[in-house]
Amino acid sequence: MALERFEFEQGPIRPPSEAGSLLIRLTRNCPWNRCLFCPVYKKEKFSRRPVAEIKADISAMAEAAAKIRSISDSGSSPGGISRQALATIQAEHPELLQIAYWLYSGGKNVFLQDGDSLLMPLNDLLDILGFLKEKFPAVDRITTYARSKTLLRFSQSEIKLLGDHGLSRIHVGLESGSDQVLDYMKKGVTGEQHTEAGLRVKAAGLSLSYYVILGLGGQLLWRVHALDTAKVINRVNPDFIRMRTLAIHPASPLYDNFLDGSFLPLTDDQVIREELLFVESLEGIDSYLVSDHILNLLEEVEGQLPVDKEQMIGIMKRYLDWSAEKREIFRLGRRTGNFKFLNDLEQRVFAQPVEESYRQLQKHNISVDEQIRQLMLRFI
Ligand code: SF4
Repeated sequence: MALERFEFEQGPIRPPSEAGSLLIRLTRNCPWNRCLFCPVYKKEKFSRRPVAEIKADISAMAEAAAKIRSISDSGSSPGGISRQALATIQAEHPELLQIAYWLYSGGKNVFLQDGDSLLMPLNDLLDILGFLKEKFPAVDRITTYARSKTLLRFSQSEIKLLGDHGLSRIHVGLESGSDQVLDYMKKGVTGEQHTEAGLRVKAAGLSLSYYVILGLGGQLLWRVHALDTAKVINRVNPDFIRMRTLAIHPASPLYDNFLDGSFLPLTDDQVIREELLFVESLEGIDSYLVSDHILNLLEEVEGQLPVDKEQMIGIMKRYLDWSAEKREIFRLGRRTGNFKFLNDLEQRVFAQPVEESYRQLQKHNISVDEQIRQLMLRFI
């Protein structure tokens, strides 16, 4: 029944870099669920899905892929379906569209959901990975989220075994390397545990992607947040460092701390100063740093370490050297979606409407900061 209707279950989130990946849900929600800054999965109970159910989902996806290929007239994309077939599927088989898009964009990447799926028994994980490769032999990248604490359940050779069965990258929410920040945010892990887990993943030969939350230390801990996060990263040398700026969601526990004044968030400009200190403190690593999230003010801070370090530092310094008014206009333009790069401010076609909005806010005595805070809530 499920196979005929191509039904399968999917969770609510995936990393931005997995936008084109096929999503396969192994677990539901997060087993920890206590991080103050996190609004996801709150009030939802964690559970492991039965292996048979997960395999049924994978089979349904494989059947859907086979049907899509049978509809397609030629293999004009790496995933073997043409643009014309995509249009036909959109019109006549909307239930197949998600898999069709995945195939059209290459059909190579899979992301295993939800927030901490390596909490499943090792043998179940190996079984699922084997089945996935059997049904989709062309898949060459399988990734998942994992908490550092969960990774420490596995020895290096067990992580390598997961790699041998096809798991290629692990996304870890490092958030911070500072014990003070991790403790305040109830992350449930220390900087040392982050380090140990990261080193294990690297030594096992898997790709490691770290998420760092800019601004997580707030006014009190921003410096130690920047320095200690860089320290952990310098020891681990992850393949990717992905930056994301803190935005306090009303559904997150941190919102109460924000309202009662016990957590004082950084302003955008302070976040860039913190980011500058962080990037300046990265030493002896060859990670690729990405700012691929709409919440980041300077998305163009991206590059290969160490060669692009000075160029990334230059972008932040250029912004900080601007006048207060110019920085405010850029921030407003960035948060309203008019600007992506610093150079956009120099282009009249982009800058004019933003400058007009800025003058209006000033005229009516409306705080630009408050306006920006409201705009940012749209992105979390
Ligand atoms: S471990 Fe991840 S998903 Fe779970 S509460 Fe923390 S940030 Fe949210």
